[in-house]
Amino acid sequence: MASLGIPANTIAVLQKYGFQFQKKYGQNFLIDTHVLEKIISESEITADDCVLEIGPGIGTMTQYLAENARHVVCVEIDDHLIPILKETLSAYENVTIIHGDILKTDVKALCDTYNEGKPLKVVANLPYYITTPIIMGLFESHVPLSSITIMVQKEVADRMQETPGTKDYGALSLAVQYYAKPEIVANVPPNCFMPRPNVGSAVIRLTRYDKPPVEVQDEKKMFALIRAAFNQRRKTLVNAVSNAGIYGQQLGDAAYRPWNEKQGIDKKRQQDEPGSLYDKCAAEHIEQTVANDEQMEAQHKKQCGEKAIAEQYAHQREWHSD
Ligand code: SAM
Repeated sequence: MASLGIPANTIAVLQKYGFQFQKKYGQNFLIDTHVLEKIISESEITADDCVLEIGPGIGTMTQYLAENARHVVCVEIDDHLIPILKETLSAYENVTIIHGDILKTDVKALCDTYNEGKPLKVVANLPYYITTPIIMGLFESHVPLSSITIMVQKEVADRMQETPGTKDYGALSLAVQYYAKPEIVANVPPNCFMPRPNVGSAVIRLTRYDKPPVEVQDEKKMFALIRAAFNQRRKTLVNAVSNAGIYGQQLGDAAYRPWNEKQGIDKKRQQDEPGSLYDKCAAEHIEQTVANDEQMEAQHKKQCGEKAIAEQYAHQREWHSD
């Protein structure tokens, strides 16, 4: 019977093992049974499903998953959590614990081994510092998966779900919506975690499309183009894309003119009003998001002093600085 959602039981396990939270791994453990039950119901797990859980912590959500799915494979990076997981999950025969870094794990091989290559469901309370690399990594590698139900920073969930013309719409929204239908299914306050994070959280379900909404010949190039277009929002679209060098030097104003005219975009207006493709409000909001990321990165580096932290944030920033 799942028991760790009750704070007293989590504290007892942590004390028994003298566990110290590691900030560098984004450890905020769930201690709210309602939130755990909500994640399980919204992830629509059935007794036929094989679930991949990223970062099981002490196994709180894993217990719930194991009681609902056919099999659960969980990947945890922290050495200190492995003996704890072996104990808290010992009653469940349908759980496989893998000690490793999800960003270096061959998820396709896990899928072949534990689910005969059929689509997995991913469920996780993600470490916030690597949310974007994990999601984009799973999508871009085309691992068979039917849905990803994850707890993420509220602001990031909003950006994934936004539609064109809204202030949070950006490269991340476009990328996620190319692969999946996003739905925020719960907002979760800081007091549902131990320790409390200093940002709000949300659970978002990304239901993978069988076929992307648009047909694209070169996905890599499309994403490079999206990032270039959003990253340099103060430049005209022509200059932003030319600067990124995606199409070499031959892409100039002339290549864009017919497209711009068709879309009714006035070239002169673009030049006179830098960033006119994105309203001022969006620009300010994005600056704030990037500033938040930078603040979190600085804090993280100070606490952990690790080079890896800088690399992870570089990837995150690429998608957030739109
Ligand atoms: N699932 C647990 C819960 O909800 O209580 C813990 C969630 S905590 C936010 C994130 C977990 O991911 C931690 O256990 C952390 O050690 C683990 N983690 C962090 N980076 C990881 C990585 N690169 N690969 C696998 N696990 C990671």
